Amino acid sequence: MNFSRSVGDPPENVARNEDILREHLGAAGAPIVTVNQVHGTSVLIVEGGCGGGGDHDALVTARPRVLIGVKTADCTPVLLCEPVRKVVGAVHAGWRGTAALVAARSVDAMRSAFGCDPSDIVAVIGPSVGRCCYRVGDEVAKAFSKDLGGGFLSEENGGLFADLHGANRKALVLAGVRPSNIHVIDLCTACNPGLFFSHRRDGGKTGRHLNFAGLWT
Ligand SMILES: [Zn+2]
Repeated sequence: MNFSRSVGDPPENVARNEDILREHLGAAGAPIVTVNQVHGTSVLIVEGGCGGGGDHDALVTARPRVLIGVKTADCTPVLLCEPVRKVVGAVHAGWRGTAALVAARSVDAMRSAFGCDPSDIVAVIGPSVGRCCYRVGDEVAKAFSKDLGGGFLSEENGGLFADLHGANRKALVLAGVRPSNIHVIDLCTACNPGLFFSHRRDGGKTGRHLNFAGLWT
């Protein structure tokens, strides 16, 4: 199901998809809060008014019965849950956000806004374009050599391939998340046309998945 209103899908179809999701979750009427993703590192703290929008690439909240989500079609989604203080997060990390440690910035935001201990955080790194299909240029290599300290690039057949999953895993560890609390869904969006939208595979004309988190207890 496509969850973006800016890729040519009629808005009523997207609204229907949102309703299907709510029905499936037993979350009738729950707000779905998203942001205008800009490949940066800004984190939106979702509080009382549940207002979304604005230029951010991650959302965190302690508010129950609200779905926070990021939209992807190759970029890496990272979902965070801190079960002690009951805080969740959703992160959008393309190569720029990955290199700038947006996943770590989101963990920092959970700590500073809600007092979360990073070692209590459980993270899931979701499907993104895999290193099998993610051929990149020097710009990415240069960006990965900064805050990430290099790595996560492999050379094959004269091309350079990037590992977004591994890089985001490192970003989380740098922020204090325990390696054993990081779960990776190691599926490539580009390799699985029956399962996923893929910006690369579909030449830019594709839908967007919604990667969401919410507190329902
Ligand atoms: Zn692939």
